[in-house]
Amino acid sequence: MVALLVALALVICAAAATCLHPRDTTAVSLHFGYSREEGPLTWAGIPSAHNSSADWSVCRLGRHQSPIVIYTDTLKPLPPGSVAVAISNVDAGKALLENLGTTLEVAGLMGVLKYGGMGYDFQQLHFHTPSEHRIDDEYFPLEMHLVFKAPDASLAVTGVLFQLGTSTTPNPLLTNIFLNLALVSNPHTNTTTGALDFSALTHNLTTTPSLFSYNGSLTTPPCTEGVAWFVLGEPQTGYLDVELYNAVKGVMKFNARYSQNGPGGVNLLELAREIGNNGTVLTSPTDIRFTSVQNWNFVKFYRRLVSIVYS
Ligand SMILES: [Zn+2]
Repeated sequence: MVALLVALALVICAAAATCLHPRDTTAVSLHFGYSREEGPLTWAGIPSAHNSSADWSVCRLGRHQSPIVIYTDTLKPLPPGSVAVAISNVDAGKALLENLGTTLEVAGLMGVLKYGGMGYDFQQLHFHTPSEHRIDDEYFPLEMHLVFKAPDASLAVTGVLFQLGTSTTPNPLLTNIFLNLALVSNPHTNTTTGALDFSALTHNLTTTPSLFSYNGSLTTPPCTEGVAWFVLGEPQTGYLDVELYNAVKGVMKFNARYSQNGPGGVNLLELAREIGNNGTVLTSPTDIRFTSVQNWNFVKFYRRLVSIVYS
């Protein structure tokens, strides 16, 4: 099955000129970051600040934004085998590790993800530190995102969490991805990776009883929604070596978007704006949503009334 999926990916990628190194050019043409005025709280306003026609408003208005905290008492995992993932292994020097300034990304790989009758082609993998998704509120030091794209352009992303450890057998995939990390310490540089064997990771994704799925978004601008997320609820086997992690952190710094509201819930930025405008006193999560919207409607009515009286 896995060999068949990889063969399918090879055919698809051979026919697609963008397979080796696809990227959302909208996202990289405008600079965003994780601190101060470029941070996640202001992402939606970055295009207008640069007189760009790009629309990142869903970052502050969308109600299916990522990442989220996965609460295992309410979101149940998929039955094992619901998702089939295959990524072709590569020899040393055959894949690129790039420092994009906002993440470390590996390109030049081929693979597929299949779920619910949909097939997605592998695009790239990249990292976040600390983890963007949290499990029952716990964060992890590193999260790997494997990004897949369907022929209709819809996206599927897997979130793979890693735990720190001092084992004598650190996770070999991470060790080889970051083999030449010192050569990409500056943004917009690249180097080659060591040999990459994805079999343990893809086997885990395909067989785990702890894979959580939800409908979310890109965790970076333009925050596009409609992304099918698959997050491993248990850290990937094989520890993240402490020294390696410190080196990765030294290059990548901090690149995690804050936790968003649960799927379908009002965007937290929109909620904060409403509360800031009308000074709602918070008593409970239920009251927050009800009273703030109610009061916001009153504020709008009052402003309208004033404008009519003084016009
Ligand atoms: Zn990501």
